[in-house]
Amino acid sequence: MRWAIRLGRIAGIEVRIHLTFFLLLAWLGLMDYQDGGPAAAVHGLVLICLVFLCVLLHEFGHAMAARRYGIRTPDITLFPFGGVARIERMPDKPREEIVIALAGPMVNVVIAFVLWLVLLGFRLPTDDVMTRFTGAIPFQLLAINVLLVLFNMLPAFPMDGGRVLRALLAMRMEHARATQIAARIGQFLAIGLGLVGLFGRHVGLPENPMLILVAIFVFAAAGNEAGAAQMKSVTRGLTVSVAMVTDFKSLPRNASLGEAADLLLHSSQHEFPVVDPDGTLRGLFTRTELVMALRQAGPAAPVIDAMSEDFPIVHPQTPFDEALQMMQQRECSVLPVTDEEGRLVGLFTLENVGEMMMVRGAIAQSRRSP
Ligand SMILES: [Zn+2]
Repeated sequence: MRWAIRLGRIAGIEVRIHLTFFLLLAWLGLMDYQDGGPAAAVHGLVLICLVFLCVLLHEFGHAMAARRYGIRTPDITLFPFGGVARIERMPDKPREEIVIALAGPMVNVVIAFVLWLVLLGFRLPTDDVMTRFTGAIPFQLLAINVLLVLFNMLPAFPMDGGRVLRALLAMRMEHARATQIAARIGQFLAIGLGLVGLFGRHVGLPENPMLILVAIFVFAAAGNEAGAAQMKSVTRGLTVSVAMVTDFKSLPRNASLGEAADLLLHSSQHEFPVVDPDGTLRGLFTRTELVMALRQAGPAAPVIDAMSEDFPIVHPQTPFDEALQMMQQRECSVLPVTDEEGRLVGLFTLENVGEMMMVRGAIAQSRRSP
């Protein structure tokens, strides 16, 4: 992830912090400083750091529960709006997903309970000057942990409550459908939050610009989740062969860049494989690479000097999800498909994947609605 710095590794999980988090710290520190001077600023910063420690522990709750089911969490990143544990995959069993989703908020319940016991034990005075800034922290932290539990348990994606709701729904309906319902509720909630953030002050609520940011994040995350679930349900059990382009033009290895440019102009293809006379794949050109090479070497230069040879290859029987993941990891929009002997048999392109999804989605829809 860009713009995130590593803090270290705890229990095999990399902990990272997004640089925008420091902007939040600076902004909050400045606000508190203006309100109450240096003491208030220090108090504010200590509090926000402790809050984020609670958020981090919350994410570790999810990660540790996932580990129980053999699912790894490579990293946890802290953003200004909260933490994100990148859990490798969600379990397919709804019961396990519920346990993982609840493990996060449970951590905050435990923290709140411990703070409550501490406060009961010490009976801290709340009104004298000494404790005005420092003594208030346990109270505030207790309140914030309670709020974190309530917010996270809202039954809407991407909150943990949304996952619980989805898992409960998935026990009696298709997984993608359950996700769609939970995501839709999440988006309605986001619109509500956004409206409160924008217009709340007109009805006497405190002004809260953070709420608008949270609303945008919730809306986008809910949409993403629905899209991913749709994708997963549509592609389950499929292989690369169902969505690869088999009608395409390739370039012979002795072709020139000028010939490649001709092919680009006279076809709708954006990527061109370079092959031996027997069909063995030698290299690959994207439109951008071709234009760059033309500019640098001119039309007479041979394609083999300018083509790229470092790209992932898939086979017709490669699982669909695996190929998609490969594309995302390598940030490429095309994967050549070869047979056992290394001969090119097709191209797996993002464009074609999109078309296949549309067709499959439409067929699934027509089956659902009588
Ligand atoms: Zn959570």
